[in-house]
Amino acid sequence: MTTRSALISGASIAGPVLAFLLSAAGWDVSVVERAERLRTGGYPVDIRGSAVDVVRRMGLHDQLVARRYRHVPVQLLAPRGRRLCTLDYGDLLNDPASGDVELTRGALSEVLYQASGDRVAYVFGDSVASLTQTAAGVDVTFDRGRPRTFDVVIGADGIHSTVRRLAFGEESRFVRHLGLYAAIWDLPAGMFAPGTGFLYSHAGRTAIVEHPAGEPTARAFLAAVHPAPGTVNRYDTDEVLDTLRGAFAEDRWRTNDIIDTLPRVDDLYFDTVSQVRMDRWSSGRVALVGDAAYAPSFLSGQGTSIAIAGAYVLAGELIRHDRPEPAFAAYERTLRAYVEKNQNLALRTGSTVISRTSGQLLRRNIKLCLVPWLQRLGLAHLLQSHVRSAATDLSLPDHDLPAVRA
Ligand SMILES: Cc1cc2nc3c(=O)[nH]c(=O)nc-3n(C[C@H](O)[C@H](O)[C@H](O)COP(=O)(O)OP(=O)(O)OC[C@H]3O[C@@H](n4cnc5c(N)ncnc54)[C@H](O)[C@@H]3O)c2cc1C
Repeated sequence: MTTRSALISGASIAGPVLAFLLSAAGWDVSVVERAERLRTGGYPVDIRGSAVDVVRRMGLHDQLVARRYRHVPVQLLAPRGRRLCTLDYGDLLNDPASGDVELTRGALSEVLYQASGDRVAYVFGDSVASLTQTAAGVDVTFDRGRPRTFDVVIGADGIHSTVRRLAFGEESRFVRHLGLYAAIWDLPAGMFAPGTGFLYSHAGRTAIVEHPAGEPTARAFLAAVHPAPGTVNRYDTDEVLDTLRGAFAEDRWRTNDIIDTLPRVDDLYFDTVSQVRMDRWSSGRVALVGDAAYAPSFLSGQGTSIAIAGAYVLAGELIRHDRPEPAFAAYERTLRAYVEKNQNLALRTGSTVISRTSGQLLRRNIKLCLVPWLQRLGLAHLLQSHVRSAATDLSLPDHDLPAVRA
């Protein structure tokens, strides 16, 4: 039997999971990543519910648990900077007994990359430039590399997917902005003491800083409402700086000192908070997975988990079917309801991270300050029951995935 080949665009989360599984089944897999090296930035993300079963089946659960993120106690600050209460997120959002794991996005990406690296050809610093589908395959040209032909091409290249643009059309048709920008980066050493954390919010903007003991630096997460999401050039540091300075101009806390560190940042994540909604995730021999197809936004807390589960289902169907089209159709049938349920989590009004009005902010602060009491009473899980219900709403198919092990 001839070896089947796949090109995957994007080496973050969905891409390496798919690469791992297809290569374990004997496929010839190449991954092209636009960044010059593996991107290791990002805040903690969650592997929860059905995605836990996937990483268990991949044999990676123990490694991921070993790199589990340890939250520090976080001081919840009022708009004038006064401490309201101290939050111990701990396992608030997850259920470790079910195997849920929270770890930084970078740590997760590293584990996935290393697990698949010796049987997958990773190419950094390049991008797909054109796709031409024929009966025999997809002819691909690259910005830098030589042209090649693959049986299938999969876009795992995030909200601004190049594969999606080439195969499905302009981004504006699929990306729905939720009215916010978010920025995440590592702060210079010494700026915040190890073991400290802060959550400082006004209506329409939030700054979170955490410096876990044992990590070299603190990490900042800023999110703010913006009147015209999608209009800021993400690659222009001056525009990003102006946007953040404008949004946080009247803060009374240390937000402006934090923003001043941005020009020296190595791996900044700055983007709109957006969802991707599409009627179809495939076109001929080309399909999308993860944020490229169905980004739910960080407000759902489920982006990483649905990317992992989606890559698993897609791999299983590609391996099981001889032709890509029926495989892609089965992938959509299995996944769509689960994906939409998780995307809808982000549309609830009561976000913990950001409140859009003063009334919402007040309610959010009261709720957060009640959390330690709920934890003591063993009732904290009630706060997240809707997330758990969505996170577990996928029965993973077993068919034809080989005994995959890292
Ligand atoms: C640096 C970074 C930090 C993040 N931080 C957070 C966070 O703190 N919290 C959170 O909830 N989510 C974060 N995310 C998003 C989160 O990783 C995703 O929502 C989720 O895990 C789904 O992953 P994905 O693999 O589908 O897409 P993504 O994680 O968005 O990965 C897409 C990958 O494709 C690459 N890429 C883009 N265009 C091209 C191209 N033309 N050719 C080749 N490669 C391309 C990108 O560099 C990236 O590596 C971050 C993403 C990145 C890239």
